Amino acid sequence: PYDVLVVGGGPAGASAAVYAARKGIRTGIIAERFGGQVMDTMGIENFIGTAYTEGPKLVASLEEHVKEYGIDVMNLQRAKRLEKNDLVEIELENGAVLKSKSVILSTGARWRNVNVPGEAEFKNKGVAYCPHCDGPLFEGKRVAVIGGGNSGIEAAIDLAGIVKHVTVLEFAPELKADQVLQDRLHSLPNVTVITNAQTTEITGTDKVNGISYVSRETNESHHVELEGVFVQIGLVPNTDWLDSVERNNFGEIVVDRHGATNVPGVFAAGDCTNSAYKQIIISMGSGATAALGAFDYMIRN
Ligand code: FAD
Repeated sequence: PYDVLVVGGGPAGASAAVYAARKGIRTGIIAERFGGQVMDTMGIENFIGTAYTEGPKLVASLEEHVKEYGIDVMNLQRAKRLEKNDLVEIELENGAVLKSKSVILSTGARWRNVNVPGEAEFKNKGVAYCPHCDGPLFEGKRVAVIGGGNSGIEAAIDLAGIVKHVTVLEFAPELKADQVLQDRLHSLPNVTVITNAQTTEITGTDKVNGISYVSRETNESHHVELEGVFVQIGLVPNTDWLDSVERNNFGEIVVDRHGATNVPGVFAAGDCTNSAYKQIIISMGSGATAALGAFDYMIRN
């Protein structure tokens, strides 16, 4: 069996595997797609110590670092079942069952899409999902935020300090965000809020040039000219297959400060957990925490 088996090959999983392997213990990584969300990222400007890099380049150096330690990398393999007996068992989609003394879950998350024409086409060409990451690319420009929940309104407030103008489009008749956030939003001079707005299309030629929506009150169609669209309608953790592991209302795995879950020997890190913020550097830190937590667990059991 493995000592530490990491499920997920994004920054959290890579970090966890390196920290585990450096203890001289048998470590493996199962990844549906090594690199995770970072593979879909263009410019990265907030990976501290590196002023600028690109997703695939960062993934290549993660892979190189992992390979330094003789970690078993099982790429293009999807885990579908976890069971705790004496050891923790992980069953893969292909039927194989792997056993390990401890497991670190780092299966990440995915942004919920609005699924309108233009969204996929203009991804990274004006369509963005992470204001902390991509906000500065729209300095002085006009953007829309789709979604009036907490993350949408936080994004709108954040962006209003950088961009020229923000239009918030909310499907429901009112914003869902906390009142303090709404108050702060309404105090800003360069924000327009449109409720009852059903986004129908993100328009553009080679990059985004506008957004179309239908008013659910009047049935009229409208078009707003702008350069960027931030989709903020939720982040979905990849955790539906984990029925025995405690998750919160958002489906995020609940971890303690050692990265431990409710199942003894099972740890978790990164965007699949209830961490407050979801970023590369944060997921790497929590991957390190989970690996050290798993090591502590093993020397006691
Ligand atoms: P992920 O990167 O999501 O990796 C999850 C891993 O688990 C993948 O390998 C996946 O294939 C695997 N997996 C999932 N389910 C299974 C399963 N059942 N079995 C096996 N493997 C599985 N953050 C920044 O800090 N700066 C940025 O500039 C930035 N830009 C971003 C741009 C975009 C377009 C996106 C989408 C995100 C961006 N982020 C950025 C956020 C950052 O990418 C995430 O916070 C980070 O990747 C989370 O790392 P993770 O390892 O927890 O999860």
